[in-house]
Amino acid sequence: MIYLDNAATTPVKDEVLKSMLPYFKEVYSNPSAVYSFAGKAGIAVENARRSVAELIGARADEIYFTSGGSESDNWAIKSVAETMSSSGRGKHIITSSIEHHAVLNTCRYLETKGYEVTYIGVDKDGIVSVGEIASAIRSDTVLISVMTANNEVGTIEPIEEIGELAHSRGIVFHTDAVQSYGHIPLYVNEMNIDMLSASAHKFGGPKGVGFLYVKRDVKIHSFIHGGAQERGRRAGTYNVPGIVGMGKASELCAVSMSDDIKKEIKLREHLIDRVLSEIEGVYVNGARQKRLPGNINFYIENVEGQSLLILLDQKGICVSSGSACTSGSLDPSHVLKAMGQNDERARGSVRITLSSDTTLEQIDYVADELKRIVNQLRAK
Ligand SMILES: *Cc1c(COP(=O)(O)O)cnc(C)c1O
Repeated sequence: MIYLDNAATTPVKDEVLKSMLPYFKEVYSNPSAVYSFAGKAGIAVENARRSVAELIGARADEIYFTSGGSESDNWAIKSVAETMSSSGRGKHIITSSIEHHAVLNTCRYLETKGYEVTYIGVDKDGIVSVGEIASAIRSDTVLISVMTANNEVGTIEPIEEIGELAHSRGIVFHTDAVQSYGHIPLYVNEMNIDMLSASAHKFGGPKGVGFLYVKRDVKIHSFIHGGAQERGRRAGTYNVPGIVGMGKASELCAVSMSDDIKKEIKLREHLIDRVLSEIEGVYVNGARQKRLPGNINFYIENVEGQSLLILLDQKGICVSSGSACTSGSLDPSHVLKAMGQNDERARGSVRITLSSDTTLEQIDYVADELKRIVNQLRAK
């Protein structure tokens, strides 16, 4: 099997799994208890918090552990919205039209609760316009949420500028960095980020654990009411093995990131070059350079994306379509549509996402099979 759907999830790295195992059977204590056995788990949790923080230049006490990216996005957006509106500051939120549904559907929910949301468009390359955000800012704007990099087309957004703009107007800036954390360099202070969401399973850690970074001076509500965990803001017994695994995954990314980036870009460009030169009517969706190292998204003319995925699957190749397939009905990707593409193009697109374990042999095999299958589908 050739797994090229790393934007959907990544396998847990060996060292990550190894770091987690003692926390299931040996150090199974609840970190919140008083005896010293509890302290052992507590120390592991706090070490993980430090590792996670270090990778983005944050302080450990600015990290709140969550169940993953979706929870972090929900918490960040709902919390700022509620805190700001209850202090009379306003009820207007700005986000982009290419956000993950964890952000988009949270904003839609808030719209039913009396908040107003402006969805900023993107250009044909999938880049959010800072100018458009500037014109959308109102006196009652309380939050801007724009993702660091898109999960479908991999485009890297100008978050540093957006953060600067937000701060110049006294607005909180949140970024969904679930696709970026551990993959590209991120520094919360230098990049003007007030809140940042990440998820362990997107960078070699386990599923069901993530974190929300919240800058010290940003006020947030308690999200899960209950015990005193996470300074009373996110109750619930710590997912100790998960948190330890996420910490380990962060440490590994810190060490390998710059090599991984070089390796993935090389493989990505090799596949793009081969496909563009060997198959006619293929286009790259999203900015060619301003994209995540491991992301490729092709539009293949006169080919139905779903059929292509099925035939690739028969050859052991796991890739994904640009569109979300829900219960049999094909929903064209909201990201590609926001980039001005029609339904046909949105349906004829495939996303191929690499990892640092991807090899040149695998990439060449994929290029060969892609060529054969596209010819086969077009001959019909
Ligand atoms: C995967 C993903 C999420 C959701 O994260 P989970 O941990 O799976 O809940 C949110 N945003 C983006 C950009 C993602 O890629």
